[in-house]
Amino acid sequence: MNVPLSRPDISDLEIEYVTRVLRSGQLSLGPRVQEFEERFARYVGVKHAIAMNSGTSALHVAICALGIGSGDEVITSSFSFVASTNCLLYERALPVFVDIDPITLNLDPHEIRRYIRNCCLREPKTGALMDVRTGRYLKAILPVHVFGLPCDMDPILDIARENNLQVIEDACEALGARYKSRSVGTFGNLAVFAFYPNKQMTTGEGGMVVTNDHDLAAACRSLRNQGRDPSSEWLRHSRLGYNYRLSDIHCALGLAQLERLEGLLVRREKAAEMYTRALAGNSMIRLPQTPADFNRTWFIYPVQFLEPTAGNGLNARDRVLQKLRDGGVGCQSYFPAIHKQPYFQETGITPECRLPHTEAASESCLALPMFSTATPKQIRYVCDTLLAALQKETEPLKESVMTRH
Ligand SMILES: *Cc1c(COP(=O)(O)O)cnc(C)c1O
Repeated sequence: MNVPLSRPDISDLEIEYVTRVLRSGQLSLGPRVQEFEERFARYVGVKHAIAMNSGTSALHVAICALGIGSGDEVITSSFSFVASTNCLLYERALPVFVDIDPITLNLDPHEIRRYIRNCCLREPKTGALMDVRTGRYLKAILPVHVFGLPCDMDPILDIARENNLQVIEDACEALGARYKSRSVGTFGNLAVFAFYPNKQMTTGEGGMVVTNDHDLAAACRSLRNQGRDPSSEWLRHSRLGYNYRLSDIHCALGLAQLERLEGLLVRREKAAEMYTRALAGNSMIRLPQTPADFNRTWFIYPVQFLEPTAGNGLNARDRVLQKLRDGGVGCQSYFPAIHKQPYFQETGITPECRLPHTEAASESCLALPMFSTATPKQIRYVCDTLLAALQKETEPLKESVMTRH
């Protein structure tokens, strides 16, 4: 049996909406863009949504809109997809990686406080926080809601308020998730979603910036469209901008997915429940934990190996991953730590803080298939294959003990 890691859920509704755009003659800058933005804003519970051609473009625009640049630092997580840090590098800002909580795998607010206490000086006149090692100013926190679980936002927002920092939420993996009854995307000055086909909903490629701030929304719209001044004529460019527009074809796909989103999320939830039932009680892995008052949605189903170097000195996670792939199961070692990536090592963008939990998680996490059309049979097959591989992990030890006799 073959089970992909992810798979988009496309129904007749998507095909109908996309076909209508194709027949309409207006493929971009048309009515579907605004409609998608309005419906998406309403779904998240924010005033403004600005559609972008990818989640990465959305992150880049968010950083530009806040004016974050070469003299600045932004606190973020190294346990993420590389885009949440690349957006800082595009603007020559320095990422400051602080460690994650080993259970939730999200940015640990205590570590943020520790960094500010140990590494920053407050300028008496302005109140600005200067990193004493780099001379740069701390401008923002960029929390990533990893694998669909919201970050612990209350302490993060407290720290931001106390220190006059901006907050940019990377909610690309967490559409529909809630923290204390509030949707992710409503906490930061800006928040970003993504619609690549492995996400909770897709537009093929695509992303969205959301905000309650009218001026930031206007800046994002202008940056998306070559820096055009919205109130003036077509070819008047008031700032350096980009072409990060999302076409009406993509937005039509997004409108259909948004209409079906609650159902898509419920079916992912059902798949997660099946995993949890089948895998509970295995002592080699930790299943995803959801703290009280956190409502997650499902991006992938992450399991964490409790003893990553058990066995003959190799990484148990990587051996099991290979066995799953050999059995036709799509899986991934999400995430390799960003600061360990070759590009980051070569350019010397390495953390000043120690990141033991980030590094442990990147060596012990395994992403299992998650998609709304997964059948019970497919999930059972993934679990059976995984449990058999875990069982095998204990056998070489037994053999080596036996050969000694
Ligand atoms: C998917 C994702 C993004 C955006 O990715 P795109 O492929 O550019 O849409 C950003 N951050 C995280 C954490 C993601 O998972």
